[in-house]
Amino acid sequence: TTAAARNNDTLTRHVVYPFANANFLAVNPPICIEGGDGVYVSDGPGAHYLDGQAGLWNVNVGHGRPEIKQAIIEQLDRLSFYSTFGNTTNSPSVALADELCRLAEPEGMVRTFFSSGGSEANEAAIKLAKQYWRLAGQPLRTKIISLRGAYHGVTLGALSAGGVNVYKEQFTPLLPGFFQVETPHVYRNPFTSDPEALGRLCAELLEREIIYQGPDSVAAFMAEPVQGAGGVIVPPANFWPLLREVCDRHGVLLIADEVVTGFGRSGSMFGSRAWGVKPDIMVFAKGINSGYIPLGATLINAKVAAAFQSDDKSQFTPRAFMHGNTYAGHPLACAAAIANLRIVEQEELPANAGKVGAYLLARLKDIQKRHPNMGDVRGKGLMIGIELVADPETKRPFDLAENFGQRIWERCVAKGILIRNLADTFIISPPLTFTTEHADKIADTFDEAISAVE
Ligand code: PLP
Repeated sequence: TTAAARNNDTLTRHVVYPFANANFLAVNPPICIEGGDGVYVSDGPGAHYLDGQAGLWNVNVGHGRPEIKQAIIEQLDRLSFYSTFGNTTNSPSVALADELCRLAEPEGMVRTFFSSGGSEANEAAIKLAKQYWRLAGQPLRTKIISLRGAYHGVTLGALSAGGVNVYKEQFTPLLPGFFQVETPHVYRNPFTSDPEALGRLCAELLEREIIYQGPDSVAAFMAEPVQGAGGVIVPPANFWPLLREVCDRHGVLLIADEVVTGFGRSGSMFGSRAWGVKPDIMVFAKGINSGYIPLGATLINAKVAAAFQSDDKSQFTPRAFMHGNTYAGHPLACAAAIANLRIVEQEELPANAGKVGAYLLARLKDIQKRHPNMGDVRGKGLMIGIELVADPETKRPFDLAENFGQRIWERCVAKGILIRNLADTFIISPPLTFTTEHADKIADTFDEAISAVE
């Protein structure tokens, strides 16, 4: 069944797939997922896969949850859509904003701006930071600093903040005023093998860049608490607290892109909470409603919110946030999010992600001892990366033409697990409902697959 589904060229005839070479897909058609139940998905009757990627890091509560389906249906029966552009609103978006600010109260978040996904939510964060400085008075700060290896999305602002060149180079020139500094990549850096020293050094490099640019010109620094698409780069534990200190010293807003880490994936409710840091702006999408309907949210703390308030009561004062999408606060997406967040809390999924993630990481590190091509195994909670290398001594990557990762991936698929290979880094980011038995299935299958390909 699997082979039949994958050989069907109708899958590639009229679709432009994201980030995928059409010629490659003509030979390797995508697996067309037709059904989902819990931690399993299927591409037709009888062909099941354990979902080791949770869709795309996002189906955190698992597939087909009746609670979310019910919430969407009930909302659909009441109202499918109404605008939130201020002269009207809808109640699920209001209720969800309350819920998000309750969950992120320890971080000091007080207001929520809605959009339809991670890129849009980051775009809103960048524009909030820029307008904040217009409203906060002189000096006018406009620059945004971020990290190499960062993935903040594909819209032009979010892309300009990104730090992975392959996503950017086709679209240059990008927006001016965006700069990237070194990320603390423990496995691959020319500086030091001591994680704490590396965390300190990279925070210092950020500070040097802020000073070089002129602190009065830097609006915000943005980063993922754990870099995801960059290959699951877990920073040293001192890095985020030091980032907060550097930003505070120079009056720079700190934006945490929690699109992947939000709502439990890294083992804490939020990635920034795991590092003990309170950002000024927090960005969410993906796990906010486990992908049942597209949704993004950008939360701001009281300091940022205050700049958008004034005594002037006219509708379009310059203190209105001059941004918004038709689907901001879509009632079906927000109703799904409320049901989703209830599950996350009731089933204590952040704690489960921490426990099962630590178990899976330990199993993979054990397997790594027998496979020199597993250059690095790293992760936090249920976001885990396995970086394959041709030579463990020099850390030389495989020649892509060897398709080493692709061949491992094919064997994993044949054995019934779906994980993602980004070039030769495998990413494991399953639903947070995973058990240690599911983790064993992933670890054992990967072990078998790499043994065969080696
Ligand atoms: N930010 C991070 C950290 C992400 O991983 C992603 C997507 O993977 C995005 C932003 C962009 O989100 P979207 O694809 O929903 O636009």
